[in-house]
Parts: sequence; C-alpha cells; structure tokens
Amino acid sequence: MIIGGGAAGLRAAIAAAELNPKLDIAIVSKVYPMRSHTVSAEGGMAAVLRTDYDNFDLHAYDTIKGSDFLADQDTVEFFVREAPKEAVRLEHWGCPFSRDPDGRISVRAFGGMSVKRTLFATDKIGFHLLHSLFQTSLKFENIRRYDEWFATSILVENGRVDGVTAIDMRSGDLVSFLAKAVVIATGGCGRIYQFTTNGWIKTGDGMALAYRAGVPLKDMEMVQYHPTLLPNTGILITEAARGEGGHLLNKDGERFLKRYVPNKMELGPRDILSRAEMTEIKEGRGFEGPYGSYVHLDLTHLGEETIEAKLPFVKELAEKYLGIDPAHEMIPVRPGQHYMMGGVHTDIHGYTGLPGLYAAGEVACISMNGANRLGSNSLTECLVFGAEAGIGAAQYATKQAALSFGNPVQGLALEEEKRIYDKVLKPEQGEKISTIRTEMQKAMEEHVGIYRDENNLKQACRLIGDLKKRMKNAVVEDKDRVYNTDLVSALELDFMLDVAETIPYAALARKESRGAHSRTDYPKRDDDQFLKHLVVYQTGTVPRIETMPVTITRWKPEARVY
Ligand SMILES: Cc1cc2nc3c(=O)[nH]c(=O)nc-3n(C[C@H](O)[C@H](O)[C@H](O)COP(=O)(O)OP(=O)(O)OC[C@H]3O[C@@H](n4cnc5c(N)ncnc54)[C@H](O)[C@@H]3O)c2cc1C
Repeated sequence: MIIGGGAAGLRAAIAAAELNPKLDIAIVSKVYPMRSHTVSAEGGMAAVLRTDYDNFDLHAYDTIKGSDFLADQDTVEFFVREAPKEAVRLEHWGCPFSRDPDGRISVRAFGGMSVKRTLFATDKIGFHLLHSLFQTSLKFENIRRYDEWFATSILVENGRVDGVTAIDMRSGDLVSFLAKAVVIATGGCGRIYQFTTNGWIKTGDGMALAYRAGVPLKDMEMVQYHPTLLPNTGILITEAARGEGGHLLNKDGERFLKRYVPNKMELGPRDILSRAEMTEIKEGRGFEGPYGSYVHLDLTHLGEETIEAKLPFVKELAEKYLGIDPAHEMIPVRPGQHYMMGGVHTDIHGYTGLPGLYAAGEVACISMNGANRLGSNSLTECLVFGAEAGIGAAQYATKQAALSFGNPVQGLALEEEKRIYDKVLKPEQGEKISTIRTEMQKAMEEHVGIYRDENNLKQACRLIGDLKKRMKNAVVEDKDRVYNTDLVSALELDFMLDVAETIPYAALARKESRGAHSRTDYPKRDDDQFLKHLVVYQTGTVPRIETMPVTITRWKPEARVY
C-alpha cells in the first residue's frame, strides 16, 4: 500500500508493479493524484545529462556543499548516478521536456548548481512530470487507486506493519486495509507555517503517521525558506526566473547580493538568499507594502520573448495575482516557507527501520538534502527514491505470508474508530479548529522562522505544547459523514501539531548555525559538536532527541562560501 499519489507515490507504485506483476498494489490519496502538490512545481528537475561539461562528482559536490555538509554522502552519490536514468525513463513515459534546437533536452541554471543541469518543461515541470507518471501508472492492472481516501493511522502489530486505516471521504466510513508493506509518500508539512508556497493539503500527515508508529523524524530543524514568494499570497515565483537571468534589487535599485554571495549572486542557495533579503529589509533597504516588507525581482531586461518562451507561468502569476507585466514592471517578492529537508527517518533504500514501513519524497529524510536543499533536486529525489522505496516494499511484501484480520489488528482498528468518531467528531462544544491552526502557524512563523534563538525556540515549544492540549477540546462543527472536510481538517491539524512540535525542540538542541538553521545566539557552524543528524522520537510527554552520524565518503567538510 502506498499512501500518496504525488511524484514519489506514483513512482513507487510503478516500480513495485514492474517488480512483481502478481502483487496487489493500492494507492491511497486524500486528493485525486493530479492535484498533489507536485503538480505545482515550476522550475525543473536536476540530472547530469550534459556530460561534455558536467559529471556526477560535480552534482554530488554541489548537493553536499548546498546541504552544508549534513547530507549523507553515500545517499547523494547514489542519487546523482540514478538521476539521469530516471530523467530518461520519464522522457520515455512521455514527459514533454523543453528542447534545444538540436533536439536535446534543454538545461537551465539553478541556485547552488555550478553548471546548467536543470531539465525543464517551460516553467511547469510539475504538471508534466506528474501527468507522465499518472498516465504510466494507469497501464498497470495491479495498481488500484483509492482517490479521496484519507489515511489516519498505520497499524503496527508485533513490531511490524500490518496495514493502514483510512476514511473514505465520500461516505465518511473508516476502513482498515491489511497491507504487507506500506510506503509513506505524503509530501511535506509547509502548512504548519503562516506564509508558505505549499498547497493547503501539505499538512505533514505521513510524518505524524510514522512518528506515532514509533519511527523517528530526522533533521526537523531544517526548514527551507525560498527567497521569492509573492507577498500577498505566498505563491512561488520559480528560481528559474533567476536561472534565466533575473535580478534581485533593493530599494536603492542595487543588486544587494554582491555583499552576500558575490560569486553566485542570484544563483546562490536559498538559505543564504533568504537571509540576505531579511537583512536588507531589517537595515531599511526594503520596500514597505500592504502585505509587509519586500524586495524586487527584476525580469524586465530579459525581454518579452524570453519570458513568453521560458517563463510563461511566472508571467501568468504576476498578471493574475498582482496585475503586473513582468516584462515591464518589477515583481515584489519576499521569503517564505517552501520545503522540509527533514522528515521520516529512512536508510538509503527508503526503509524506516520498522519492518514493512518505507517512506519517500518530501515526507522522508533520506538525508540527501542535509541542512539546505538545492532547487530542482527534489523532484528527482522523488523519482530516484520513490522507485527505491517501491522496490524495497515490493520485495519485502513478496516474501511475507498472507495477513489475516484478527486481534490485535482488529483491536487497533476499533481504537482508531473510537478516536475519530467519539473523541474528534462527537463533542458538541469546544474551541474552533481554525483558531488553533492560526495560532500554530503564527507561533511557528514568529519563533521558528529564518532566524532563531533560545528564547524564541523555548517559547515555541511552550506555545505548541499548549495548543496540543487545547486541541483535545476542539470542536468539529459539521457532524455529517459525507465529505466532511471539517473532520479532515481537524485530523490534519492534529497531525500538524505533532510535527510542528518536533521543529523547535530539534532547533533548540542544535546549538550552531548550519544551512537553513540560523541561530543568532550560535552564529557559527560547529562541526565538532554538530556534524550529526538529530532524530526526534515521540514520547508520552516532550519529544526525545537522539543523534545519528553523518556519512562522509569523499568530501571533507569545508567553509561554505559562494
Ligand atoms: C510551488 C512549488 C514549486 C516547486 N517547484 C519545484 C521544482 O521546480 N523542482 C523541484 O525539484 N522541486 C520543486 N518543489 C518541491 C517538490 O515539488 C516537492 O517536494 C515534491 O513534488 C513532493 O512530492 P511528493 O510526492 O513527496 O508529495 P506531494 O506531491 O505533496 O504528494 C503528496 C500526496 O500524499 C497524499 N496524502 C497526504 N496526506 C495523506 C493522507 N493523510 N491520506 C492519504 N493521502 C495523503 C496527497 O493526496 C498527495 O497525493 C516545489 C514545491 C512547491 C510547493
């Protein structure tokens, strides 16, 4: 069983179906697969195809340096070698990549990458990539879909996975699925923050599912802010806009990045660029608008033709959401939450350590992004490790004996039914879900954002802890069963609070600054003490934090300057 119909989930399903045509494979997705967040990816996917100037070592080095040396290097080496194979596979499955006049797939520059290696389909890669995967998945008769089914728990018996409980949102019924192996591919949790590029459905469900099943979450303090969001909506303006030559300007019309990343300028990595924008704003060189402070993204010098050909979606977004034409006017932008480097702990094959449970895609922390992900590595990660997790799960399932629905699995399913219908749905009075959600998002934004310090983090731990208590007395106002989105949002918020809490606790424990984790009270990277992963376990009370070693193969940690 695969939970999630985005890039990672579909790729896992196809890999499992190809490995063993006799397996019965289910994809459970809370939305129709084509509505998964993957669809909104804009810029492109990274893979070494231009071997005349590019090579695996360079892609690996860029990724590892981008990660501020927190990535596991064996994972990165595996990733860069598999990436081109996945790209070619995707092309054969019909992905309409943009092409050069000579017929080769085009490549563009992306932040933190030393050469052009990001393949793209104008600025709508996510739509085309997801379509290609979805249509390919339809060819396999042994893949069954459960669209608009919401997974609520993982059934664990005798230290191994036995299945999943999920609500059929159409009827409101809770159903138990027996499954010999489960792949979690539920994407990120951006919605725990106030200002994010992430769709409403990105609520960290899979992180909480695994965490509650006893699997730790890893590198949770590493939260990526992207430097170019529209200030009114949080909609992303892709890094491809800078890859194609766009400039970032402050109020004085100055390309301020020369003070921060002089050798890379607009193609510096996201953590550094986001901090640079915040510094400009703090020192009075930003603009003030109705939606807060911002800087300018200038594409006017690119010309109408380039914008039309390579960035049509940027044009559409600027026009529709701000009423401006980027060929002639500057786009106001500011940083906002975009991506989770952290997630469900897995090994290099997507295995979580709990027999039968795998994870891939943004929900997983397979440790290739470390403290900062490079743009365009994520989609490729979904393909490479989605396939790996699908194969791992299929191999495991093939060897397992048939499951039967008896105790204790049945008992677990009944408990889950009581939790949902009696504890969450039934209460007639209590606090509104939306109030708790808004307070959580505000607490995370204010206290666990781009800059952090001990006081703020402690406050966040306390605030989220209080909200978790208040959540126990929240009310779901809609009592109907059919398409009860109020109930689903309550369950999502319950997931989000569990996940949110791990972030300030991990951030508090990491007394250094590395990648996206920037502590004003510990401004330097400290390899002696913190060149290691932090993993967070759920306990009855506050989360427990342990460490795991970082795998270094060939690239010794060095100062990260661009
Ligand atoms: C606006 C935007 C632009 C981006 N652009 C790029 C880019 O150009 N290049 C790049 O490499 N990366 C990009 N990224 C990042 C990248 O798109 C994502 O990290 C990646 O698509 C995540 O894919 P996924 O398969 O892990 O999850 P998703 O695509 O988020 O899919 C999650 C799936 O899980 C299902 N699900 C979740 N919870 C449950 C539940 N409880 N029960 C049942 N089903 C559930 C959902 O229905 C969905 O099908 C972008 C991200 C955003 C937000």
